[in-house]
Amino acid sequence: MNHVITIDGPTGSGKSTVSRLLAKRLHYPYLDTGAMYRVVALALKRAGIGLHDEAAISEICSELDIVFVPEGDATRIYLGKEDVTEAIREPDIDLLASDVSALEVVRSAMTNLQRKIGSQGPLVAEGRDMGTVVFPDAQHKFYVDASLEVRVDRRFQERQRRGESISREKVREDLIRRDDQDMNRSLAPLKPAEDATIIDTTELTLDQVVEKILIYLGSHVN
Ligand code: C5P
Repeated sequence: MNHVITIDGPTGSGKSTVSRLLAKRLHYPYLDTGAMYRVVALALKRAGIGLHDEAAISEICSELDIVFVPEGDATRIYLGKEDVTEAIREPDIDLLASDVSALEVVRSAMTNLQRKIGSQGPLVAEGRDMGTVVFPDAQHKFYVDASLEVRVDRRFQERQRRGESISREKVREDLIRRDDQDMNRSLAPLKPAEDATIIDTTELTLDQVVEKILIYLGSHVN
């Protein structure tokens, strides 16, 4: 899988911002795979489909029309013709996305889609299982992490910027629960690939993380 760069990590590790900035610097497209699981969660919620209804979930996944539309430095996410960029970031979708992402039928549909996108050319692919499962042969793999308190702070600030009124304690609780779920599921659990470069972002700004990755890539050109 040439020219795919994978960036995995837990909530609040900075992986989304780092991936976006890195993709921009390299002029690579950027794939936010968390957004894909969020779209599935939103579609299931709206259709009133429960997590045990495998047939209905499978049908939703096969019909799902997820479209990424670059807009300046950001990307808008569409479900068919509807812009769902904000809807998929609603607080209840956080945990629901994690719930649905543990299902085999959902993972295999998303993995196929992600590989198809990866086969089309260079890519910065961000998620939880990019280096371990989806692109095991990726040219460069990174796993970004940070201390729990720094991750909670980043997530808390993100939610405050969106105008949500939520306590830091609740953000902490939700983050711990979701990471625990993502790390301990049987399918594609969140963990660094054996050949991933691990970057601790606790003491770094996200721009510094990007510089670090660029230096690493520059010294590993083959
Ligand atoms: O990264 P983000 O918070 O948007 O991801 C939402 C959820 O989607 C994660 O908590 C995780 O359960 C799931 N996910 C996944 N595999 C990926 C990306 C996200 O299971 N590659």
